Formats: sequence, structure tokens, C-alpha cells
Amino acid sequence: MIDEQKSPVAPAPAQAPISAETVLEVRGVRRHFRRPHGDPLVVLESVNLNLHKGEIVGLLGRSGSGKSTLLRIVAGLIRASDGEVVYRGEKLHGPADGIAMVFQSFALFPWLTVLQNVEAGLEAQGLPPDEMRDRALRAIDLIGLDGFANAYPRELSGGMRQRVGFARALVMNPTILLMDEPFSALDVLTAETLRTDFLDLWMENKLPIKSVLLVTHNIEEAVFMCDRILVFSANPGRVVAEIKVPFKHPRNRLDPRFRQLVDDIYARMTVKAGAGKTTVLSIGERIPEVSTNLMAGLIETLASETYKGRADMPALSQALALEVDELFPLAESLQMLGYAELETGDVHLTPLGQQFALADTQARKVSFAKQMLTRIPLAAHIKSVLDERPGHRAPAVRFLSELEDYLSDSAAEQTLRAVTMWGRYGELFTYDDAAMSFSLEIPEAESA
Ligand code: ADP
Ligand code: MG
Repeated sequence: MIDEQKSPVAPAPAQAPISAETVLEVRGVRRHFRRPHGDPLVVLESVNLNLHKGEIVGLLGRSGSGKSTLLRIVAGLIRASDGEVVYRGEKLHGPADGIAMVFQSFALFPWLTVLQNVEAGLEAQGLPPDEMRDRALRAIDLIGLDGFANAYPRELSGGMRQRVGFARALVMNPTILLMDEPFSALDVLTAETLRTDFLDLWMENKLPIKSVLLVTHNIEEAVFMCDRILVFSANPGRVVAEIKVPFKHPRNRLDPRFRQLVDDIYARMTVKAGAGKTTVLSIGERIPEVSTNLMAGLIETLASETYKGRADMPALSQALALEVDELFPLAESLQMLGYAELETGDVHLTPLGQQFALADTQARKVSFAKQMLTRIPLAAHIKSVLDERPGHRAPAVRFLSELEDYLSDSAAEQTLRAVTMWGRYGELFTYDDAAMSFSLEIPEAESA
């Protein structure tokens, strides 16, 4: 289907071609957040990007890489620590009239109807009530919500709620639409319907917008929707690659060239950081909250006849029905622990990973504990503190405040939760929720 010439009598005017006119420039943007102790957390560093008239640009990066922070800066909701955002030749200070945003969480007012939610965006403009209503109703019709103007958000499905999110942005007649993972809270089918509806409107030139900046962690979505994809790295977030998508809409996900491009992008996103950089972690290394069951499952899958120890990440993500955002942290955890290696789009088991796959439950736990102690400094640290203390107990806040010197509060909590979960599995230490403390005693039930 892809690239087929449209019928010569196609009635709809085509979307205007991408022009050289730059509508948005992000120049040298840096952003850090203060932390109670230690150095500030640098989330964005030297971010540069341009958005031209007529294009949909994707910003593709893993969770935590700073995509939402960047989008909030462009929307004028927060400030950059350094650098600037230039919209149509003028430096931005705060929200601009021509820039609107659609949020992942919909961000609707639950006590307002659909119509009132959409009108809310216009209120600041001081329009006469009739005109406000008229524009809101037109946006509601355009995005396929006709008949729902008087419904409340709670009466709508997730897909319909996000349509309200779109209507609320479109009613502003923005030049630029910013979208922060707008489809990721929706189920697969609903997300696809909304993507397709959006692209249809875009291609038919029915949207007021001239350019779109779409943030996503989903490679397929980026290839499906965007003219250009900017690959965003983490720690700190910055643009590391630009990929042009040469396919016409409507795109076919099964087209071999589509698949190939998805593969290529996977490969770019899994290039190793550099020789020698793979094993040395610090106490403040962020640990993904990945379940030990999933890790064992992935090791078994990789060791199976189908994969014989090595798999292509896109193939694996399809076979396991896991999105990249779920598969990456999973594969990375195995890499951290020394059970697998990740390189250019492939994940393969190490000899240790092979052994793990063949081992029984107890031997797996022993191996896991050993890997945690040797490869995860935070785990070794907790263990040694517990070993030294007379009662073999230590409060969680102690480790939490140490971690907060390196990580944001939420990342610190998440890392401590991950290490707790892993430590329980390896029977290194356990955590008492009621006492909020770690100890060396392993309850009977968990050692089974
Ligand atoms: P993404 O959208 O790519 O998942 P975010 O921009 O939401 O990433 O977050 C990037 C990093 O910045 C995360 O580590 C997050 O914890 C941190 N962060 C975001 N906002 C704040 C804030 N207001 N204070 C402290 N840290 C923050
Ligand atoms: Mg985000």
C-alpha cells in the first residue's frame, strides 16, 4: 500500500510540502534541577533542533531522557537553565500564542464538560462568548467528538478523552503542535485509530497547525508518523542522530522498507556507549525497576532453540509483545548484571547467562546474588552496611538520602525499590515495609 500513487482525481488538497521556513529553533538548551545535596541533576545539555513549516518531527528517546522537560521548555511552561528557544524569529519568554500542547495524561478538568474543557483554552484570549463557543464546537467536530460536547470526561473512553486533549490544543489555532507521548496511555487499537485520524486530517490540510513536534519512546510510532526523527540520548538528554523518513502517507507497517528503518533505528539506539564503559557503575547508577521474573524469562527465551543465545531486539519485542520502553530496561538490567550484552540492535547471552538458563532455582539465586554484589555497587553497599551493624538492620532513608546525591528524588526511590526487589530474589537482604528498614533476615516464605 505504501507509496502507491494516489488516484489522479483525489479531491482533497494535499498537505503543503515541507518548506525551508524555520518556525522553531532550539539553541543550546540546557536544563538542570537542583538537588538537596550534591551536584545539580543535568537533564538536558546542548540541545539543538529546528522545526520547519509543513513537517512532523519526532523526538525519540527512552523514558527519563528529558523529552518532557524539553517539550515543557518549548511550550514556555518552564525555563531553560541556559540556551534559548526561538519561535518565528523571536526569543521565547513564557508560553507563546502559536504553540499548543497535547499531554500524555490528557490533563482534562474533570468538573468541566467537553465543551467547557475546550473553551477553557480560549478563555485567556478574551473572545466574545459566542465566538468562543463557535470555535470550540468546530474543534470538537473536527476531531470526531460531535455529539459529546456536553459529556464529562469520566463518561468518555480513553481515546475520546484524548480527542478532547487534541481539540483543546487545536482550538487555539496554533502554528506548532507539541505532543508529549499522546498515544501512549491508550490501548493499541485506540492509539492506532487516533494516529490515523490525526494523519488524515494533517494530510488533508484540515488542521490549523503548520508543524508538529511529537515526543515518543515508540520507534514504530515515530516511523509511522514523522517526516524526520531526532534520536535523543539520556544522561544528559541531547539530540544524537537525525533520520529522514522517506515514505509517503498512508504508511504500511509491514512494508519491508518500513521494517528495515525500524531495525536501523533500534540499532542506533543500542550502540554501546564506548569501549570499557560497560561494567563500571557507581552507587548512584539508576537501576531500572525490572522484575526478576521478567529477567529470568528473557534469559530463558534467549537461550531457547528459537534464538540460540542471540536475538534481534525488534524481533524480540514483537515476539514478546513488549514495547521498546519495556524491552530496553529489561535487556539493560541483564547487561548490568553480566548475563547479556547489548550491541547495535542485538542482545546476546553471555556464558554466565547461558549457565543461568540451565540452572535450578537455588543456583539461579546464588548466581544472582553474586552478580549483584560484584556488579551493582549500591547492592554491595547495602549488604556491607547490614553486615557491619550489630542488629543487621538499617533504615531505608539512610540509603535514600545517599542516592539523592546522585539522582532525582523519584529516580532515587525507584532505584531503591529495584534493588530491594532484586535483593529479595537473590536473598541478599530483605526489606520490612512496616519498619521501613533493610535487614539480613530472609523470611521463610521468601526463601522457598
Ligand atoms: P522523559 O519525558 O524523557 O521520560 P523527563 O523530562 O520527564 O523525561 O525527565 C527527565 C529527568 O528529569 C528524570 O530523571 C526526572 O526525574 C527529572 N526531572 C524532571 N522534572 C524534574 C523536576 N521538576 N525536579 C527534579 N527532577 C526532575
Ligand atoms: Mg515524558
